[in-house]
Amino acid sequence: MIDLHTHTTFSDGELIPSELIRRAKVAGYRAIAITDHADASNIELILTNVRRLTDAYAHFFDMEVLAGVELTQVPPPLMADFVQMARDAGAQIVLCHGETVVEPVAQGTNLAAIEARVDVLAHPGLITEVEVRLAAEYGVALEITTRRGHSYANGHVAAMAKRLGAKLVIDNDAHAPGDLISRELRHRVGLGAGLTKEDIAQAAANAAVIVERCRGRR
Ligand SMILES: [Zn+2]
Ligand SMILES: [Zn+2]
Repeated sequence: MIDLHTHTTFSDGELIPSELIRRAKVAGYRAIAITDHADASNIELILTNVRRLTDAYAHFFDMEVLAGVELTQVPPPLMADFVQMARDAGAQIVLCHGETVVEPVAQGTNLAAIEARVDVLAHPGLITEVEVRLAAEYGVALEITTRRGHSYANGHVAAMAKRLGAKLVIDNDAHAPGDLISRELRHRVGLGAGLTKEDIAQAAANAAVIVERCRGRR
């Protein structure tokens, strides 16, 4: 399994990165991305320190670990600058905290993130047809999430992505060890979103392609 979306004590997660990585390994994950909430106040602090860990311990993890951020509440007109800032600061993967139905994320965030070509648009909520078409064109993956609350719109995201040809990934958005769920539960969440067994396998393959693409960055 792969989780491209996790949080540590660098934002609102419960575990320091080393602990999260070990828990993920034991829970059966072969790759994770550490993607703490980032804005202008902390983007460099997160990436400098997570890169310090991933560079120093890479050979001991026995799994692939990507350093990244989840750009969160970045004003849409500034999104492209922040994606570039993240990449310049060492982010191998960049997510955007999308327009979830359970939080007041600024309208226009989904579109700005897709236009800025983030790797994954997290929990995009009631994403529009125009946005999904653009995500498909730019290769921006849309997220099906196992996280409570954000997951309310999974059915919409899955249906739109399937109809319009956008790539999906399934993430846990893990904030605590219990969020690193089993293969069986991830599968059931996928089925619950209206995906078929084949769609779920494709989402896993999409995540593997993203890992391959991102691991080569710096
Ligand atoms: Zn988020
Ligand atoms: Zn998150």
